[in-house]
Amino acid sequence: QAPVLALDGPSGAGKGTVAREVVRTTGWHFLDSGALYRLTGLYCQRRGVDPAADAAGAAGLAAQLPAAFRLDAGAERVLLDGEDVTAQLRTETTGALASQVAALQPVREALLQRQRDFRRPPGLVADGRDMGTVVFPGAELKIFLTASAEERARRRHNQLKEQGIDVSLDALTEEIAERDQRDASRATAPLQPASDAQILDTTGLEVPQVVEQVLERLRA
Ligand code: C5P
Repeated sequence: QAPVLALDGPSGAGKGTVAREVVRTTGWHFLDSGALYRLTGLYCQRRGVDPAADAAGAAGLAAQLPAAFRLDAGAERVLLDGEDVTAQLRTETTGALASQVAALQPVREALLQRQRDFRRPPGLVADGRDMGTVVFPGAELKIFLTASAEERARRRHNQLKEQGIDVSLDALTEEIAERDQRDASRATAPLQPASDAQILDTTGLEVPQVVEQVLERLRA
């Protein structure tokens, strides 16, 4: 079976950026598992299913998610039911929806096989919260990326600014802290590193330094 790099950690720790760089260098496939939860949240909203009231309905939608990932002239595009939802997927509103559906065990089970299907030669970089613990427990390398809450909020702020989205740093810090709290304390799949994961604290590190450390561990 193709090797897997499981890259887990809280939101804003830089997983997405680091994962994409590692993908560029290695030529491995990429699983953005957060996008699947975001798509599920969005799809529930569009189909009028309230996840809080109807977990089975949400899981049903997750199981038949009409999603497609495209590379369009080097730019990633995500389609839902044929519609380009790339921009909408990244908003904090969708993030909140995602974290809501992600707390439902039936939804997590519905998305399990779909995530495992991304594992193909020459290898897979899997970005998420439970890649090393649940989805790929046998992953060849497990790295848990962290950074202080302030640093993560600052990074997200800059990222959004680059996309022309201007939100207050305070509001973002609060939202991220809230989401962290929900992700860490929920009964279903609480965010925690796998027992055999290597912890990598990226506070104060630039992206290329983090990428180099990950590649080094991958080569070892
Ligand atoms: O990584 P991203 O911010 O896109 O994830 C959105 C939300 O989806 C997270 O807040 C988390 O609640 C959920 N998630 C999850 N398990 C994953 C990936 C994301 O529960 N593997």
